[in-house]
Amino acid sequence: MDLSVIIPIYNEEANIPALYTRLGGVLDPMGLQYEFIFINDGSRDKSLALVQNLAARDPRVRFIDFSRNFGHQIAVTAGLDLAAGQSVVIIDADLQDPPELIPQLYQKLQEGYEVVYAKRRSRQGESAAKKLTAKLFYRLLASITNISIPVDTGDFRIISRKVVDALKQMPEQNKFIRGQISWIGYRQTYIEYDRAERAGGETGYTYRKMIRLALDGITGFSDAPLKAATISGFIVSGLAFLVMVYTLYARFVSHEYEPGWASLMVSILFLGGVQLIAVGIIGEYIARLSANVRQRPLYIISDTNITHPAAQAQPAPAGVVPPAASAY
Ligand code: UDP
Ligand code: MG
Repeated sequence: MDLSVIIPIYNEEANIPALYTRLGGVLDPMGLQYEFIFINDGSRDKSLALVQNLAARDPRVRFIDFSRNFGHQIAVTAGLDLAAGQSVVIIDADLQDPPELIPQLYQKLQEGYEVVYAKRRSRQGESAAKKLTAKLFYRLLASITNISIPVDTGDFRIISRKVVDALKQMPEQNKFIRGQISWIGYRQTYIEYDRAERAGGETGYTYRKMIRLALDGITGFSDAPLKAATISGFIVSGLAFLVMVYTLYARFVSHEYEPGWASLMVSILFLGGVQLIAVGIIGEYIARLSANVRQRPLYIISDTNITHPAAQAQPAPAGVVPPAASAY
């Protein structure tokens, strides 16, 4: 298998037929052995039926049906877990990422790169608020992390088998795949493209999901917020100390003071500062703990036509004996 194309699907019935045709039109002339992996992330429309229809007609179409909506990053993770290709393309189902770019991505990979991502030169058909928040987020993230996560880049990219295997070894529960790929390293490069408008249907990325993705990106790759808490604690304590000096001065030197004011102010400010330091330090520990204690499986598959051994290797909770014969 030369190439696997991973396509997360959340309510994309309007786009699946066109996507399948365009992808086929691009990949067939390349003369590769390829597979499509559609991950149905709990769609509530006819997406699953459409994909299963394609799978019945075309043996290169693989599908994974999740038991519910687990989110875009988890859907891509499942695709990576079960992809058989020597290289893997991650692409959105809504045709915002043009399939016509795949030959160029593949060509660059053959030149010896392990990751070729597609960078958005411009984006069409998205609200000014979304463009602005995305732009700010990518720049904020770049400035507070010590790995270089490329700006204005989503998950549309091609990665080599080496990178897929490295990703599979990263156990974090809160996935931020573009960050993880930067962290992995190797030779990476990019090509630029103009991002099209969504072909049909509506975005599945609500503001809530976007904020969660942003927080996963920040907490997964930076301790800056925790450090900011600690630093603000020190600053407040420093101010409290200055106020303390001033009140001592007012009480004993200039004798201009309200009785009771000094001790009240100093204790409030001082306690506030110490509390912020303490919260910052506790936060340092909790952030590290919580990420590691909940060893849940990342997703639950309700149906798939992938017979690959990894499809059955869902991590079973400790103490639970996996059934001998799998459901699929
Ligand atoms: N998606 C998904 N699960 C979700 C939300 C989105 O699998 O909970 C998929 C969606 O079908 C699409 C891709 O992730 O293939 C990108 O989503 P979308 O186009 O809605 O995001 P946007 O381009 O608006 O940021
Ligand atoms: Mg989109």
